[in-house]
Amino acid sequence: MASEANAAELLEAYRVAIRRKSPKSLETWQKNRTVMPGGVGSRFRMSDPFPMVAKEASGARLWDVDGNEYLDCMLAFSTMILGNADPIVQEAVEKVLPRGSTYALCHDREYEFAKLFCDMVPGADQLAFVNSGTEATLYATRLARATTRRSLIGKFEGGYHGTHDFLAVSIQKPRIDPAACGPIEDPVTVPDYPGMVEDAWKNTIVLPYNHPAASDKIRRYGSQLAAVIVEPVQGGGGSIPAKREFLQELRKVTEEVGALLIFDEVITGFRLARGGGQEFYGVIPDLCTFGKVSGGGMPIGAVAGKRDFLRLMEFDTNPTGTILVGGTFNGNPITVAAGFATLKQLNSNPGIYARLNAMGDRYRKELNEFAQKNDFPAMAVGAGSIIWMHTVRGPVNSNRDLRGENVNASVGLKLLYRLNNLHISSYHGFLSAAHSDGDITRLIEIHKDAMWELRKHGIW
Ligand code: PMP
Repeated sequence: MASEANAAELLEAYRVAIRRKSPKSLETWQKNRTVMPGGVGSRFRMSDPFPMVAKEASGARLWDVDGNEYLDCMLAFSTMILGNADPIVQEAVEKVLPRGSTYALCHDREYEFAKLFCDMVPGADQLAFVNSGTEATLYATRLARATTRRSLIGKFEGGYHGTHDFLAVSIQKPRIDPAACGPIEDPVTVPDYPGMVEDAWKNTIVLPYNHPAASDKIRRYGSQLAAVIVEPVQGGGGSIPAKREFLQELRKVTEEVGALLIFDEVITGFRLARGGGQEFYGVIPDLCTFGKVSGGGMPIGAVAGKRDFLRLMEFDTNPTGTILVGGTFNGNPITVAAGFATLKQLNSNPGIYARLNAMGDRYRKELNEFAQKNDFPAMAVGAGSIIWMHTVRGPVNSNRDLRGENVNASVGLKLLYRLNNLHISSYHGFLSAAHSDGDITRLIEIHKDAMWELRKHGIW
């Protein structure tokens, strides 16, 4: 094994090579920093040693401002499932633009999009459009509170549901500092970031993901619990799929205590299957939230569900008893055009999910076989076209299972991905219909080469 000093020296050499490869990106980001805090539009765009600065993207490729070409397995955090700059989606947007980009009114193109959305998602009788996944989970939990007249929400350790104060708790901490997060069977609620309103996050109880003790805790808080929210595959938490029996049990126990079950399908929606995670797992929630893929590259969020549970959004018939939902840009015509053009293609191309999921399965199979054969403590995870590789031997059932990760190897891998022209986020990767089998071969090779490189230097 390399000493810490040698490891630090090697990682620094990779950073130097990245700076050399992308001087314009570095310069652009530094300029951004003078007028934007951190120089990035979201903390998740920050990366080591500095953020990627995009120039353009097409299909399964993305180019930075230095002209470097990358294999794109980030796809705007899963959004671009058809590939970047899909011509049919672009044409649909160009066609509506001359009619005005937003009216903040009903318009004659919402119906066909909402109808197709509901036809595709088994648990969606109706839906409300908003502008982001964060808004969708905020409104879904508000709706659950108003409907059940209860105050508590259950969320899982490692689960990411956006940035609002109710749910941005116990996301990263359980992996980094499990001792601060209580016993695995009964985790405590830990706000991950400063500035969160205590009265908000204290109304959130935290549950262990993929763990039978979750049911005990749900029963314990049963009469106060408005809803339990869960990602069918934890995305930002490390691409960790739920076990089918775990979701089935959640369905049963939430019904038993009278709490709503919310699937946060912001990543899994229209990605794992035509009907998202609920179709993939065969478990139908009461409410579900969407974003990303469903907007075809334009800003979107959606709260969908069974008609009974959306009743308190029927503003016209119940003006005082309904929840507050607003949004100037909700269902704007550009998003509706891009989203509809995307869903139509996904809906009318029945082989698309079999192919996407087979590519993800190939990634996991080949890399896990390789890791095992060569004794790398590594685990390729994910479900369907959601992919990632962790530097632990596994199994990985929750983000507490990541606490033994090889930190130097994790950092080194991400730097080597970038050096070798793979664009992928920090805890999840995604495949698109534009990826070829050759792209998957290249993706796997980049991983294997990086693993040998780190082994050669005694880091792994
Ligand atoms: N829920 C999940 C599962 C997500 O992955 C995300 C974003 N990565 C969100 C909610 C928040 O979505 P947005 O970034 O659109 O606010």
